[in-house]
Amino acid sequence: MKNLEAQERDDDTVPEKLSAEDPAKSGMAASSAMDGVAATALRSVLSRVQQAAERAGCRADQIRVVAVSKTKPVSLVRQVYDCGHRCFGENYVQEMIEKAPQLPEDIEWHFIGNLQSNKVKPLLSGVPNLAMVETVDDEKIANLLNKAIESIGRKPLKVFVQVNTSGEESKSGIEPSGCVELAKHVHLGCPNLEFCGLMTIGMPDYTSTPENFKALANCRTEVCKALGIPEEQCELSMGMSGDFELAIEMGSTNVRVGSTIFGPREYPKKK
Ligand SMILES: *Cc1c(COP(=O)(O)O)cnc(C)c1O
Repeated sequence: MKNLEAQERDDDTVPEKLSAEDPAKSGMAASSAMDGVAATALRSVLSRVQQAAERAGCRADQIRVVAVSKTKPVSLVRQVYDCGHRCFGENYVQEMIEKAPQLPEDIEWHFIGNLQSNKVKPLLSGVPNLAMVETVDDEKIANLLNKAIESIGRKPLKVFVQVNTSGEESKSGIEPSGCVELAKHVHLGCPNLEFCGLMTIGMPDYTSTPENFKALANCRTEVCKALGIPEEQCELSMGMSGDFELAIEMGSTNVRVGSTIFGPREYPKKK
């Protein structure tokens, strides 16, 4: 996976960095202890990802781990950054706009939430180092992103097309039957967007089933056929804290891991 080599090289120095950290800077001593927990949890996730990649017969550096930092303080993100990790995800525009400027510019931010039309410009101008929007689920939002990028003059934005693989109305994402058309639109009709693959959340309670993962893999087959691109050019973003190893074994190249790295969030999960 990305960063693993740096990660291993850094292993000896990281505990020093952590213990040398001034507790006053990150608030109380208790939060400093929490930060240590996140660093340890990241290492554990990265090694589980590596093992899952081996079982899947792919290289670990082909799997991207998006550390999902929503609701978590900047100090905690910083600790995970200091371990060598560079890819982070947020699902609320406002929260991302507030946090990103307080953190290093070489972070690759992934937006993984529902993107409303009126938030497209604030997101793009507020987060210059936005690397990817994983949740493009209709032509309208694709067109708005495409236009806004042109007017801001930033480099093309990587996107995933979000697919609703559970058939539940409450989940955003395009129906599997519409994914080819939308992927085509992004690939051919949006010069400022770079179509990079497909993303799914799974069930409305944020769990996924093997059927959801299979459905997304089937969508990839169709999309690659229609666009005439090899499967390696169409990533799959699937798998979260509870199921990222299974997702990798089923072909995921981008796992979005929040609570297993940062600890449980302090609001109830959507049901
Ligand atoms: C919050 C979130 C995640 C991470 O969930 P965890 O179960 O905490 O790992 C992944 N994907 C999306 C879209 C999310 O909103």
